[in-house]
Amino acid sequence: MALGEFELIRRFFDRPTTGLVKGIGDDCAVLAPTPGHQWLVSTDMLVEGRHFLSTVSPQRLGHKALAVNLSDLAACGATPRAFFLALALPRADAAWLEGFAEGLFALADQHGIALAGGDTTAGPLNICITVMGEAPAGTALLRSGARAGDDIWVSGTLGDARLALEVFRGNVTLPGEGLDLCRTRMESPTPRVALGQALRGLATSAVDVSDGLLGDLGHVLSASGVGATLQVDALPRSAPLAAQPQVLQRLCTLTGGDDYELMFTTPPERRAEVGGAVARSGTSVKHIGRIEAEPGLRLVDAQGQAVAAPGPSFDHFREA
Ligand code: ADP
Ligand code: MG
Repeated sequence: MALGEFELIRRFFDRPTTGLVKGIGDDCAVLAPTPGHQWLVSTDMLVEGRHFLSTVSPQRLGHKALAVNLSDLAACGATPRAFFLALALPRADAAWLEGFAEGLFALADQHGIALAGGDTTAGPLNICITVMGEAPAGTALLRSGARAGDDIWVSGTLGDARLALEVFRGNVTLPGEGLDLCRTRMESPTPRVALGQALRGLATSAVDVSDGLLGDLGHVLSASGVGATLQVDALPRSAPLAAQPQVLQRLCTLTGGDDYELMFTTPPERRAEVGGAVARSGTSVKHIGRIEAEPGLRLVDAQGQAVAAPGPSFDHFREA
C-alpha cells in the first residue's frame, strides 16, 4: 500500500519536541516567546533545477533546506526556536523521505530547533521552510545600521559553492579533494548561527551572503545610505579557489552565490570585541573593507588600484 499523507507526516516528521506549547497535529502550532524578546521570522524556498541539482542526496537536501533558513536567522542575530516545512513531493518515496528527514533533523538537533508544523502536498519537488527565532527586544541585527568609518568583515571563505558549480558546468576541473570541499560547501552549507548571536549589540549591520558578496553588500549600503571600499585581494578563499586564475577567483568571491557566510560592520574602536565574539563563536572572520560616506562601492586590489566588478550578482528574474 502506498504511503498516505498523514502516515507520511507521522512517520517522518512528527517527533517529540521541547520548547513548543503545541507542535504538529493541530490546526496551528502554539509558541510562547521568551519574555522581553521579539520574534524574527524568515522563509526560503528550494526548487529542483533552480536551487539544487537532481543529483544531490536527500540527506544533503534536508540539511540545506534548513541551513539556508538558519543563515537568515544568523544574519539577524536570532536564536533559533522553531521551523515549519511545506513540502511538495512528486511521490511518497519512503527511502527518499528517510534520507531527507535524517539530514533535516541532524541540523535541527544541532541548533535545538523543533519542527512545529507544515503542509504536505503532491506536486513537483519543492521545499519551503519558515524559521522562527528570537532576540532580546531591540537587538536584532539589520542591514540599515552601517556608518561611515565602520570596518567590514566576512566569515569563513567565499566562492567555494560557485567554484563547484563551474566544475559541474564543465568549465573547471579540480582534484578530488578540492572538489569534495567545494561540493560540500555548495550542498551542505554551515549557517553561522553562533557568530550572529555573538554580534548582537556589537555589529552595526549584518547580512548573510547568499546571492554574491557584491549584491548583498549593495543591499547593506543602500539600506544604510552609505558607500564602501572593498579590498578584493583580502577576500577569504579556500585552498582550491586560491589555486585558480585570478579572474575566476574574483568572479567566485565577488559574485558567486550560496556562500551562507555573514558579512557585518562594526565601529573601528570595537575591533577587540570583534575578536572576542569570533573566539566565542568558533568562526573565523576577515577584515575586507571600510564603510564610507561617499555613496557607491569601490573595489581596490592590494596595491590600492581600482578593480572592475566582474558582473552582476544573482537575480532570479535577470539571468544571463
Ligand atoms: P490542515 O488540514 O489544518 O492544513 P494538515 O492536514 O495539512 O492540516 O496537517 C496536519 C498537521 O500536520 C498540522 O499540524 C500540520 O502543521 C502538520 N504537517 C503537515 N505537513 C507537515 C510537514 N511536512 N512537516 C511537519 N508538519 C506537517
Ligand atoms: Mg494543510
